[in-house]
Amino acid sequence: MHLARFKRISLGHFPTPLERLDNLTSLLGGPEIWIKRDDCTGLATGGNKTRKLEFLVAEAIASGADTLVTQGATQSNHVRQTAAAARKVGMTCHALLERRVTNQGEQYEQAGNVLLDDMLKCEYHFCDEGLDMNAEGLKLAESLAEKGRKPYFIPGGGSNAIGALGYANAAQELVYQADAMGLRIDGLVHATGSAGTQAGLVAGFVALNAPIPVVGISVRAKREAQVTNVHKLACATHDLIGTRGDLDVNMIEAHDDYVGPGYGQPTDAMVDAISLLAAEEGIFLDPVYSGKGMAGMIGLIQKGHFEKDESIVFLHTGGSAGLFAYPHLFSKQRGA
Ligand SMILES: *Cc1c(COP(=O)(O)O)cnc(C)c1O
Repeated sequence: MHLARFKRISLGHFPTPLERLDNLTSLLGGPEIWIKRDDCTGLATGGNKTRKLEFLVAEAIASGADTLVTQGATQSNHVRQTAAAARKVGMTCHALLERRVTNQGEQYEQAGNVLLDDMLKCEYHFCDEGLDMNAEGLKLAESLAEKGRKPYFIPGGGSNAIGALGYANAAQELVYQADAMGLRIDGLVHATGSAGTQAGLVAGFVALNAPIPVVGISVRAKREAQVTNVHKLACATHDLIGTRGDLDVNMIEAHDDYVGPGYGQPTDAMVDAISLLAAEEGIFLDPVYSGKGMAGMIGLIQKGHFEKDESIVFLHTGGSAGLFAYPHLFSKQRGA
């Protein structure tokens, strides 16, 4: 795998740290738990979309674009990072925000990521739930082109094969770090949504011939649908990288037991996982993705999914800006 063959710009701080979670490891009594800090990518409070955008925005620049167009849920971390990337390269971001979560109180459409979108001069418009959001985003790009702009459309989550290169690169970065410290990784766990993160990781590990199982904790889709989405994108990324052979669907592992009532809807396990990581490790997760991902990892450990003497890595995909859209969830800790 030789990713310098692809266009890329620098948007973040890499490599991100790989740290041992001493307190969580001793609390759960094994396996040994490490954390890959992709919440520390640095772009406008960071997160996993930064890696994808390094490849996507390079394509946008090469195409002569002056505008990035994308879409996400109201509290999208992807839209926030895309808006920041746009400012950095002298573009404007136009975004559609889907009202996928409507029961979380007044702060939800103003605070957290939406506040940061405002500060990044993102031109966003709210949409009702249930539309084909990528199709709506393409329509928005067309209408901007008619007005003389030069838009570049980035799908939701930055999840196409070009974006997923960012996570093939992360797979390589992680293997180098682990090899340098003599760490054998027996599994990598993370929250999976639009599938680009997991697809890129799987394609990257295959290209590196480093058979590290990637465990996706779904935040939205049912298991079968998530496996299909990840597999499709992993195959496209595998082809783009130019790795030989087929990428078998059996390589894709996803769990849907931690979604709860739906995307962006709180669960007790998520609130407990976020509270635990803050109290034990001083690390902030988020209510939509990494909190459910961590709840999933803890649940799998408690079910005996990993051996006590194994070492696993939790990929922290970011999102803590979203905490401020859900202040009521954690107010009990103030004694309210
Ligand atoms: C987007 C996102 C994810 C999911 O990544 P996908 O590539 O969309 O599957 C996980 N965590 C956070 C914080 C995110 O913003």
